[in-house]
Amino acid sequence: MRKFLVAGNWKMHGSRASVAALVEGLLEQGTMPCQTLICPPVIFFDQLQRQLVGSSIGLGAQNLDWHDSGAYTGEVSAAMVLEFGCSHVLVGHSERRSLFGESDAQVGLKVEKCLSSGLTPVICIGESLAQRQADETFAVVQRQLDAVIRQVGVTALRHSIIAYEPVWAIGTGESATPEQAERVHAQIRQYLAKQDESLSQNIQLLYGGSVNGENAADLFAQENIDGALVGGASLKVDDFLRICRAAV
Ligand code: PEP
Repeated sequence: MRKFLVAGNWKMHGSRASVAALVEGLLEQGTMPCQTLICPPVIFFDQLQRQLVGSSIGLGAQNLDWHDSGAYTGEVSAAMVLEFGCSHVLVGHSERRSLFGESDAQVGLKVEKCLSSGLTPVICIGESLAQRQADETFAVVQRQLDAVIRQVGVTALRHSIIAYEPVWAIGTGESATPEQAERVHAQIRQYLAKQDESLSQNIQLLYGGSVNGENAADLFAQENIDGALVGGASLKVDDFLRICRAAV
């Protein structure tokens, strides 16, 4: 039986004060109703690690460099995020791919570094609007998945999470319908089943793209959707809690 996970991607938002208030709001409601992760900018890790002591909310990074250390200005290593209690890392988010030129091969290297460091990668994959319109959705998703599998092998995905995030639905307010999302999730599971049946049954497949308190329950009712990667709505206590409650 797969567990639901709701992960909040805070992107480049927040200040000391707003971050403290947001987490206080989440903690006030007691134990989180489902497995919950927040992915703040790493600059807030120290503050949040202290604030989250005793809570079930996990801490994730939004990115990671695959090198151990060295002259990589602006980058953050696996060892660094681990020191602050980080358990998960978003890898290959579409904003990293499109705005920072992250390639499929680099995504593979980052996943490999996460796995060898004991971090769980949340591997983000998804098609653009033009690719969907050209009927290339699964070809794109498959290409992105294959790059990771080539690097780490399919079995290593047992310790990974996949987030299907159609690029056209991210930050647009236009979520995929539950049926559209479920179709791709089922295709991903079937594709993995051909390579490793038990992995395909156990791996958590999150949906991401304009998930909010209104649409979460319908998305979570789909057989192959095991939770959500949430951007905008994860910055609002009430909305984020509503999404987490819908995952029970
Ligand atoms: C995201 O950033 O991964 C995301 C899904 O954003 P939003 O929920 O705002 O569409």
